[in-house]
Amino acid sequence: MVIGDFNCAYDTSSRFYDSSMHFIADNYLICSDAQRVSDIFTYCRDDGLHTSWIDHVLCSKILDDRVKEINIHYEYQTSDHKPLALKLTGLDLISHANIATQMTHYNAKYDWANADIDQYRNTVHSELNKVDIPRCMFDCSHNCDSTQHFSAIDEYYTQLITCIGKCTAACVPVLKNRNNAHNVPGWSDLVKDKHDIARASFLEWVVAGKPRCGYVHKMMCHTRAEFKLALRHCKAAEEQLRADARASQLADKHN
Ligand SMILES: [Zn+2]
Repeated sequence: MVIGDFNCAYDTSSRFYDSSMHFIADNYLICSDAQRVSDIFTYCRDDGLHTSWIDHVLCSKILDDRVKEINIHYEYQTSDHKPLALKLTGLDLISHANIATQMTHYNAKYDWANADIDQYRNTVHSELNKVDIPRCMFDCSHNCDSTQHFSAIDEYYTQLITCIGKCTAACVPVLKNRNNAHNVPGWSDLVKDKHDIARASFLEWVVAGKPRCGYVHKMMCHTRAEFKLALRHCKAAEEQLRADARASQLADKHN
């Protein structure tokens, strides 16, 4: 399954259409969103004058058969892209849940900025070399439904993830401050109201058929600009606090 921003509409007039079609054909994939939804957009320029459908979900036939529904979340305001969400049925994820609980380091936050990346790279390289690719995979067809192969893939996946997890735990310091990078300090006081208004205006604009002028269009652009400005102020203030802390740390060292 390949998900994300392809910068390409599922449309012959799109610049990367041919390359995308080759990629899809070469890898036996299906564009699951194009098969299920129509007349949507996943990207919207701030002025509302340009929208496009350039994010996609590409699946193998086996996974595409299990895609139950695909939805676009127009209510998300923090990016000019709108998330695509899909529901899959008939996936047996029980064994994976067990793996996640076995791996306590799975939930740890690592301080990559202070990691010895060369050491990490060398460790991962030599440890991954010890993980064998299951032999049976070499003569597997693209329309495989062998349960033996499925469990071999599960086992192989577990070994890869566990190996990378162990290397990370061994080479990268754990982040002590668990403050989530996605938390914006001051959001509730300064940004939340503007965000909620911008979201409501945007949804109203979508329901109205994405008008390119008039009151609904103007309100969408205006409230969106207000929200982005407030968010920018918040982030700038946070950066200033960080800079102040670094400066006083430095000053303490020299005293
Ligand atoms: Zn197979």
